[in-house]
Amino acid sequence: MPEAGSKPGHDCPRCPRLVAFRKKWRESEPGWFNAPVPSFGSRNARVLIVGLAPGLQGANRTGRPFTGDYAGVLLYETLAQYGFAHGEFAARADDGLELIDCRITNAVRCVPPENKPTPAEINTCRDFLTPTIAEMKKLRAIVTLGRIAHESTVKALNGKRSAFAFGHGRKYSIGALAIFSTYHCSRYNTNTGVLTPKMFRAVFAAVRSYLDS
Ligand code: URA
Repeated sequence: MPEAGSKPGHDCPRCPRLVAFRKKWRESEPGWFNAPVPSFGSRNARVLIVGLAPGLQGANRTGRPFTGDYAGVLLYETLAQYGFAHGEFAARADDGLELIDCRITNAVRCVPPENKPTPAEINTCRDFLTPTIAEMKKLRAIVTLGRIAHESTVKALNGKRSAFAFGHGRKYSIGALAIFSTYHCSRYNTNTGVLTPKMFRAVFAAVRSYLDS
């Protein structure tokens, strides 16, 4: 499939390291998705959540952001608690879970080795993040999961990194958009107590009150 605006093609050739990694996993796990993972949710949503990149055995396997890895358990549970998701989350792309007024994307669409995209890959994939934001005509709030997602989002909105520094629980306005930043809901952050479910819920509570105000 060719590239179009917010959606990289299935064989997006832009990042050689990620293409080589994808090729390796296509060969060893042909049943996995192994392609740029598309955004999940309607472009008419008022909230966009920006994650880092697909997890190898999560989104890269299932084809849906945060689906099949640990990070998704806290994310989808929290979304349901604040009315942004309904249905049963069963960690499969066909579990029927629906997002409500919310969409999820990643700063980098292809799985990177060791979960670490390079600065060049983050910059290149911003060519898809920028139109993803622009096509959301009703967008009011963006939740950035972790520093990389936050900084890439700020750049996509032409904001200066120094003026919108990443920090858990911070809220900024860039033009008409509110940006809420949180530590990433990764297994590492939750296991080490860097991010507790309570801290994560507080961010989504703030998003909910902002939308309702
Ligand atoms: N899965 C995703 O899709 N994105 C992340 O940032 C982490 C896990």
